[in-house]
Amino acid sequence: MPYRAPVAEIRFVLDRIVGFDQVNGTELFTDATPDTVEAILLEAGKLVETEIAPLNKGSDQHHSRLENGKVRAAPGFDRAYAAIRDGGWVGVASSPDYGGMGLPFTVSTAVNEMMASGCLALQLKPLLSQGQIEALEHHASDALKALYLPKLISGEWSGTMNLTEPHAGSDVGALRSKAEPKGDGSYAVTGQKIFITWGDSDLVENVCHLVLARLPDGAPGTKGISLFMVPKFLPDENGNPGQANSLKVVSIEHKLGIHGSPTCVMQFDGATGWLVGAPHGGMAAMFTMMNNARLGVGMQGVAVAEAAYQHALAYAQDRKQGKTPLGATGIIDHADVRRMLAAMKADLFTARAIGLACAVALDMARATGSAEWEARAALLTPIAKAFGTDVGNEVASAGVQIHGGMGFIEETGAAQYLRDARILPIYEGTNGIQAMDLVARKMMDGGAAAFRLLQEVEDHARDARSTQPDLAGAVWNAAEALREATEWLLAQDLNDRFAGATCYLRAFARVLGGHYHLKAALADPARLPLATVTIKRLLPEHIGLLAQMREGAAGLYDLTPDLLAQ
Ligand SMILES: Cc1cc2nc3c(=O)[nH]c(=O)nc-3n(C[C@H](O)[C@H](O)[C@H](O)COP(=O)(O)OP(=O)(O)OC[C@H]3O[C@@H](n4cnc5c(N)ncnc54)[C@H](O)[C@@H]3O)c2cc1C
Repeated sequence: MPYRAPVAEIRFVLDRIVGFDQVNGTELFTDATPDTVEAILLEAGKLVETEIAPLNKGSDQHHSRLENGKVRAAPGFDRAYAAIRDGGWVGVASSPDYGGMGLPFTVSTAVNEMMASGCLALQLKPLLSQGQIEALEHHASDALKALYLPKLISGEWSGTMNLTEPHAGSDVGALRSKAEPKGDGSYAVTGQKIFITWGDSDLVENVCHLVLARLPDGAPGTKGISLFMVPKFLPDENGNPGQANSLKVVSIEHKLGIHGSPTCVMQFDGATGWLVGAPHGGMAAMFTMMNNARLGVGMQGVAVAEAAYQHALAYAQDRKQGKTPLGATGIIDHADVRRMLAAMKADLFTARAIGLACAVALDMARATGSAEWEARAALLTPIAKAFGTDVGNEVASAGVQIHGGMGFIEETGAAQYLRDARILPIYEGTNGIQAMDLVARKMMDGGAAAFRLLQEVEDHARDARSTQPDLAGAVWNAAEALREATEWLLAQDLNDRFAGATCYLRAFARVLGGHYHLKAALADPARLPLATVTIKRLLPEHIGLLAQMREGAAGLYDLTPDLLAQ
């Protein structure tokens, strides 16, 4: 079943659900008119359907590989990457000062979703470059910007993100990589990094590594970490790739999925690098990149869900098996299969709406400088990442289920979506870490950003009561329950909050799902059945989730390691 780019659906979410017109209404983004956005999405969709999606299966079977210290990309990636590069797709949201299109991040997010649906393994490459571009735009010196940004934005060079070390995963502050000043403004960077996505490739002239390392006077923990630009080839006096730097790919990991994406162990042996941002300010600089990437990964979840849903729907429309009590023979008519398809479609819509609402908030914060928009984006980022990637897995898993035994057989392609999706809740901060971020850092405002958003949900539900009393009432009640739960949460100590964080985050996503689906039903009556499924069948999940959240941590620790081992 070939992937079809869901341009009309994305447009509906942008125009009718998340208020993209506000972005276009700002001075910064006047050029992002509905017609321009439509043209860009159609063009990107065509590229994905014709050049990118056809490579997905092949790149799963013929992995990228390490040959004589160099990474060779999967067959066909050279042509597809060239199409991405030449179309200017890396720099959709990047600064026009350095060759970017200067369009809203929301547009880039929608384009990225389609590319990741087409081939997640390949899309990771431009995604990491985009994160690096943003980090450099915000934190690098003018000299570094002038040298690196044009090449990264044009896609001639690509970027990587080097945080993880064998003993420093979620706890980045434990890293041991070191940077020694060389006395000429550059630094010698030494250390080993693991799990580095697209750590090398033959698709680009140069690979630019952003590496977290500690200066000699760096304090222990995250406060003493600095960020360095460490290119594979040192730029010569004309800014072209020159002498090879002292770094290498040690190996490529053998993985469950995304086989087309080379996940590298990198060794830096006194490699020359340049400081990005202030000394010991590496985490702040890296956070720019990680926030971009967190939403990007959340949308990868949406992307896999879209592709897996299309695949499963096509199979369900075709496969005949048994008879329903009403006499139909297609599996799509069995109530349980219909239940699965309905939940898949409903959650796909919710996850996409949360992700695009987060992107709109980021654009609005940038265009207006408003602290409220900034807080909205910060609040939605962990929800978009964790819920989007959970939905990616759940939909891909349901997709296998709908295929029956054929789902477990590689030839249908359903299994690849599930294998590929499994990394999404892990990298870019595990979903557990996202949930903790939501209930701790994102609540440091006393819950103000959360309460503002819940007020909007309740106001909308109140207005909708005259047309959809049942659905609107259910959404209002759920938002109110979440408001009370948030007040309870804020009164707890940190470990009790952490114990309930994952349940709280999902309950929040459920309430947002009810809100967005209610909006959809009001905007388009054809969407009422899906909204009804969402609000009557999926939204009630928040009740159990919030009850679990209120249990706090104590009961979990009563289950001691000894008892767990019994
Ligand atoms: C395919 C792939 C690509 C990757 N790409 C990159 C990349 O490009 N660059 C890069 O730097 N890294 C990359 N990573 C690394 C990835 O970001 C880490 O694997 C991830 O952050 C988790 O770290 P960890 O594997 O050490 O797990 P751990 O940190 O050991 O976590 C193990 C478990 O413990 C939980 N846990 C850990 N700490 C806490 C805590 N404080 N509170 C509650 N629970 C906790 C986690 O949620 C998880 O469930 C990649 C990994 C993979 C597999």
